[in-house]
Amino acid sequence: MKQLILIVEDDLSVKKLLEITLKEYQFNSISSDGKKGAMMLFLTHTPDLLIVDLGLSDGDGKELIEQIREVSKTPIIVLSARHDEKEIIAALDLGADDYITKPFSINELLARIRAALRRKAQEENISQNVLCGELEMNLASRDIFFKGEKLKLTPIEHELLKYFLLHTNKTLTHKQILKEVWGVGYQNEMQYLRTYVNTLRKKIEEDSTRPSYIKTESGIGYRFSCNKE
Ligand code: CA
Repeated sequence: MKQLILIVEDDLSVKKLLEITLKEYQFNSISSDGKKGAMMLFLTHTPDLLIVDLGLSDGDGKELIEQIREVSKTPIIVLSARHDEKEIIAALDLGADDYITKPFSINELLARIRAALRRKAQEENISQNVLCGELEMNLASRDIFFKGEKLKLTPIEHELLKYFLLHTNKTLTHKQILKEVWGVGYQNEMQYLRTYVNTLRKKIEEDSTRPSYIKTESGIGYRFSCNKE
């Protein structure tokens, strides 16, 4: 069955491009140019994923993200007009899964859509083990294996890697990671995060200067990738 994507975009040419592209790649789509119409469509059609522009005809796309997150975990990919870090971080912190900046490449957009849909399927079907590249985590024992061998990790390294493994192929802001791994009150301790990312990279990356798992999203945070590139 084709998956349904809700496009929320007030720029007609971008909306048209998205509709044509999604159709070509075997997705169904519905669209709205404002957040009110989008919320209606969301509730009546229960799409599999949303693509949300931040500047809409009737206000801020972030408000739509916030409303949707109150009722649903459906993946949301944000479209941002420019590389506006503050806006992107705010949208991610409100619960968006990922972002892409205009002008975007179709391949990049499709990759992000597929990753978000895969993650959704995984979350709905959580089994004993989480697999990611050459990493494997046993959910029952919480042990993490790399190339079949149990990794020696400090408690914080373990918590951080566990968080990454449960949120793969997704842009995570510094603040989100610090809050989830270290706890409320640590959101601004960027140096902690940098230090532990460095030590983790030494344990799981072949070349820690050119990481294939823990990718840096400049100015925003990190993305844990399972696909070797
Ligand atoms: Ca717009």
